[in-house]
This record gives sequence, C-alpha cells and structure tokens, in this order.
Amino acid sequence: MIVILQSEIDQTSPEYQQLIEYFSNKPNITTRVHQEIGATQKLTEVYLVGDTASLDKNEIESLPGVERVVRVSEEYRIIGRHRDESRPTGFEYNGVYFSQDTLQIFAGLCAVDNREHVELMMKALQDHGQVCTRMGAYKPRTSPYSFQGHGKACLPWVFELAGKYGIKVIAMEVTHDSHVDEVREALEQTGQPTGVMLQIGTRNTQNFELLKIVGRQLEFPVLFKRGFGIDLEESLNAAEYLASEGNRKIIFALRGMKSNLGDPHRNFVDFAQVPVVKRLTRMPVCIDPSHSVGSRDQAPDGMLDIMHVTAQGIIAGANMVLVDFHPAPDKALVDGPQALTLDELPYFLEDVAIAREAYEKRRGLCRRFTGGQ
Ligand code: PEP
Ligand code: MN
Repeated sequence: MIVILQSEIDQTSPEYQQLIEYFSNKPNITTRVHQEIGATQKLTEVYLVGDTASLDKNEIESLPGVERVVRVSEEYRIIGRHRDESRPTGFEYNGVYFSQDTLQIFAGLCAVDNREHVELMMKALQDHGQVCTRMGAYKPRTSPYSFQGHGKACLPWVFELAGKYGIKVIAMEVTHDSHVDEVREALEQTGQPTGVMLQIGTRNTQNFELLKIVGRQLEFPVLFKRGFGIDLEESLNAAEYLASEGNRKIIFALRGMKSNLGDPHRNFVDFAQVPVVKRLTRMPVCIDPSHSVGSRDQAPDGMLDIMHVTAQGIIAGANMVLVDFHPAPDKALVDGPQALTLDELPYFLEDVAIAREAYEKRRGLCRRFTGGQ
C-alpha cells in the first residue's frame, strides 16, 4: 500500500509524525518513506509493507496530510502504474528530460576503441544537434578472449571529448559496483563535463546485488535492459530492485529476446511490448534496434532491418533509442557488423522524425475517436 502525502507535507511536518505513529501502532506493518521530486512538485510517499489487507483505505485517506492511498496488487509496487496515472513518469538529468511522452536518441559506439573514433562520433552527433550518446567502456563479452573494453582508463578522455562536443548524457554499461565509483571519480577529476546514465546489460538483469548498489546511488539515472531469456514480469521485478533501493530514474530497454526458432535476427525483436511496459509501469521505454537485429541486413525496399524496427518501436511510442554507430565499422572491436555509419546518421535521424510524427498523429487520431489521452 502506498500513502501519498499532500504536497506541502514532508518528513518535518507534524502530520507526518502523527501518521508514522498511527502506522507504528498497527500490527505487522512496517513503513518506508520515499520522496519523489517531479518537474512541478515534490511528493512524499509512505510505503506500507506487511499485513496491509487489514488496513482501512478510507480511514487512512481521512487522516490529516494524506492526499490519497493506492493499493498495490502487482509485485513491482514502485515502478508500477497501479491505475494511478497522476504520479510523474519522467525525470530530468543534466538538462535532458526523459518521460513516457518524450523521445531521445542515444547513437554512439558499442565499445570505445580509440580517441579518433570517439571524437569523430561525437563531432557528428554535435553537427546533427544531438546531445546524448552511447559509449561502452566495460564490455561483458560472451568469450573471455574477446576485447573486454578499455574500462576505467578511457573514462577521462571520453568525458572530456563529450564536454567538448556538447554531449550531456552518455549511456555506459557497468558490470561491477566498482565501475560506478570509477565513473564518479573520472567525472570529478575532469570537472563534470558531461553526465552518465548507468546501463545494466541484459546479462546482468537479475544480478540483484549489482542492482541494489546501482539503485542505492541517486546521482546517475539507470538504463535497465530486459533479460534476454526471462519473461517480462521477471525483468520488471528486477527493475523494481533499483527503485526499492531509492533510485526512480529508470528507463526500461527492450533489446530483443533469445529464441532458437531460427530467427533471421540476432534476437527476436520485442518492440511490440513498448506500449505494454508503458501500461504496466511509469518508466520511459527505450528500444535497442542494434542488439535486437544484430546485422546490416536490408529489405527489398532498400531499408536496413535496423531502420525498419526502429521505426516500428517509435511508431508504438518508444521514448529512447539506443543504437550502435561507428565511423569505421570494419575496424570496430565489438559489434561492427551491426553498426550504422556516420554518413547514415542524418538519414537515420530523419527516418526517426518521420516515425515520431506518425506516432504523434496516431495519438491525435486516438484522442479524436476515443477521447483518450
Ligand atoms: C550493449 O548495449 O552494448 C549491450 C551489450 O547490450 P545488451 O546488454 O542488451 O546485450
Ligand atoms: Mn554491442
């Protein structure tokens, strides 16, 4: 059960103290407090855990300082919607806003290889008005003999180049809690030239100890990839680990599912679930066309499968696209065969804009015919 307090009430208010005392007298109920800072208001929420079935919702709603009470049936109680549309879905980070209504593009290198390639990538992004990118420094690889990423060593110069080219947010996978400290230290050492969104990769979706550490820090938002071999509910429960530790700035990424049915793509593309995740949770939803498709295969109409599935995800309302580019894909140390080239960046962005416009039109149509949102 979630007790949402009136906006002027916080942990210093007498009403808050009275409420906590009220709950402390209830048997088998424990409380946990969370503050949610939205764009326009600050919300204090009290989470009640334990024998909540015995509590009277109406009675709690009539207590001073209480705005409303939400009974949660789903397991993912913090990230879930619970038919409670009015709580915020978005957050701002380093000047960039993420929500279930916005769209941000994170084009960049799957893996940082050398300074020249990072600089060419970032310059191209700036030339095309982009302020976000992806840069892998820690690469979890299927084989221990494959390139594992430059790790900590590359962070200072990657961050400095990001600052030079006006990049505000870099999506960067972390695979160990020490990586979070290394990212923080490198940002401090270089004078915070950019921001970082910590990425949890599909191989770590259920690494609960890593999720707890990343969830406990509130400085960096988190891009959380669904597990490639578990069901959606298990992935959403895993995302809840982040939120239950305090971090609510989470974006949920669809990146395709492992399937042995002889698929033409590296993973079975799961972007039909964009609206599903938006319905079940308040998280913005990202799509990763590169790791879903895994190749530069082209349809007879001349368009790459990567471009087709990107458009499919966006037309269904995706809020973020994480996509591999490389200035020289044949020289890339990781995932070169699925990278788009810098020449393709303006083409890709224009295609994205067309799909987004189509989504907006579809929303308008839906409003006109059904009176929906
Ligand atoms: C990546 O985005 O670089 C990556 C490794 O993705 P995933 O965890 O989805 O395989
Ligand atoms: Mn990759």
